[in-house]
Amino acid sequence: MNLILLGAPGAGKGTQSAKISEKFQIPAIATGDILRSAMKAGTTLGLEAKAYIDEGKLVPDAVVIGIIKEYLASDACKKGFILDGFPRSIPQAEALDEMGVKIDVVLSIEVPDEKIVARMSGRRVCSCGASYHVEHNPPKVADVCDNCGSALYVRADDAPETVKKRLSTFHAQTEPLKEYYAKKGILATVEGQEKVEDTTSLVFRALSRFEA
Ligand code: ADP
Ligand code: ZN
Repeated sequence: MNLILLGAPGAGKGTQSAKISEKFQIPAIATGDILRSAMKAGTTLGLEAKAYIDEGKLVPDAVVIGIIKEYLASDACKKGFILDGFPRSIPQAEALDEMGVKIDVVLSIEVPDEKIVARMSGRRVCSCGASYHVEHNPPKVADVCDNCGSALYVRADDAPETVKKRLSTFHAQTEPLKEYYAKKGILATVEGQEKVEDTTSLVFRALSRFEA
């Protein structure tokens, strides 16, 4: 199964992509995580990306398209993959088509803007890629990652002002992808729920025809 996850920032793409990855045994490629680790490592890519991310803008298409090309060429993606955070614009989707990559399903997780803003203030993340919410998905021990034991932190771009900018970027540049993929007949939608496991049930139901 070659899957694209769509959704506003904070809709729960990362959380659901981990569940799908486990169930279907396919890797998840999260452009946001890749860019953040480049930022942390202080590479040229990281320095370039930071300027855009801190502003709530998209990193230039050419940069993320290059990253995705590299990942999709790896053996790990042969049996399927989940794209979390890519494509995020029409030119990125067109680039994917031009690469000859066949997408089976595009799953959009729908959450209204008001809920997004409230949710983001409770988000806590780990450098291992795990993501939590202080109320809706708390770690077993406060501020400590269940997976790896590291200290959790608040993402710099989760500041309320930046969240608002990311939401308008989403509506302007990413949301048109729903129509792009609906026209191809591969768009599926689920309503993001308050509880992670409720959303996961809906997601698995939407993907049930891909089960082995
Ligand atoms: P979220 O989905 O919660 O907004 P991500 O971790 O996926 O967060 O992305 C964080 C930031 O990284 C985005 O706001 C954007 O600046 C940048 N980014 C991630 N993926 C892409 C992409 N495909 N194209 C351009 N910029 C991207
Ligand atoms: Zn961790």
